[in-house]
Amino acid sequence: AVRVRHLNKHFGDLEVLRDISFGVGRGEIVALLGASGCGKSTLLNIVSGLESADNGDLEINGQPAARFRDWRKLGYLFQEDRLLPWRTVRENVALGLEAQNVPRAERQRRAMAALEMVGLAGFAQAWPHQLSGGMRSRAALARSLVIEPDILLMDEPFSKLDPQTRTQMHEELLRIQAMKNATILFVTHDVEEAVVLADRIVLLEPRPGRVREIAKVPLARPRLATDRDVAEQTR
Ligand code: ATP
Ligand code: MG
Repeated sequence: AVRVRHLNKHFGDLEVLRDISFGVGRGEIVALLGASGCGKSTLLNIVSGLESADNGDLEINGQPAARFRDWRKLGYLFQEDRLLPWRTVRENVALGLEAQNVPRAERQRRAMAALEMVGLAGFAQAWPHQLSGGMRSRAALARSLVIEPDILLMDEPFSKLDPQTRTQMHEELLRIQAMKNATILFVTHDVEEAVVLADRIVLLEPRPGRVREIAKVPLARPRLATDRDVAEQTR
């Protein structure tokens, strides 16, 4: 589970996040929506530990993030795919397993399985520059899933995919979530995608990014939460 409380973040004079509080429970899928530049990626960077907040609290699986030891259980799919150009597609996917000291043969086997899942088994030995944009983003998806994360942060994971592939990847994600009871926080600009995938939607306000509304889905029309619901969610 992930919980942030009263998070603030500036880049120099630019205030990006102000008093952000929300949580993602174990086994829950939360979609993070908001206008371009409102601080969604910054928020994911903070939750992942790559970036630090000015102040506020971050809890991972019930512990203060500073004391959370097992970052290997956290998968992060970046907004850009960040594939290493000097490694093959399969080696890129296997990267996360190196940090876990998984033996080489098993790394390769699991990387292949992850590539099969995203329909890229035939490109295991290819170089990233040989892939299309959508294929690169599927390779990055495979890399974030191969470690079988407890907590999965995904920054616009499906935005480069065609509708059919996107639906397939949605199904994969829901399958993995059901299997692992993973905690998933993902960014999207696609409201329909948020409604299809998420248990809850968190909206960031344009500037400075405050949590504005939390809607519960699925419902025919998402119910926008009251302040009291928000207070309960963030307690
Ligand atoms: P998008 O939907 O376009 O991906 P976003 O909500 O993810 O937008 P962020 O990337 O979090 O937005 O950026 C939020 C704001 O913080 C932007 O104004 C951006 O210019 C600024 N920003 C982000 N990272 C840095 C940084 N490392 N240094 C300075 N400013 C930054
Ligand atoms: Mg972003």
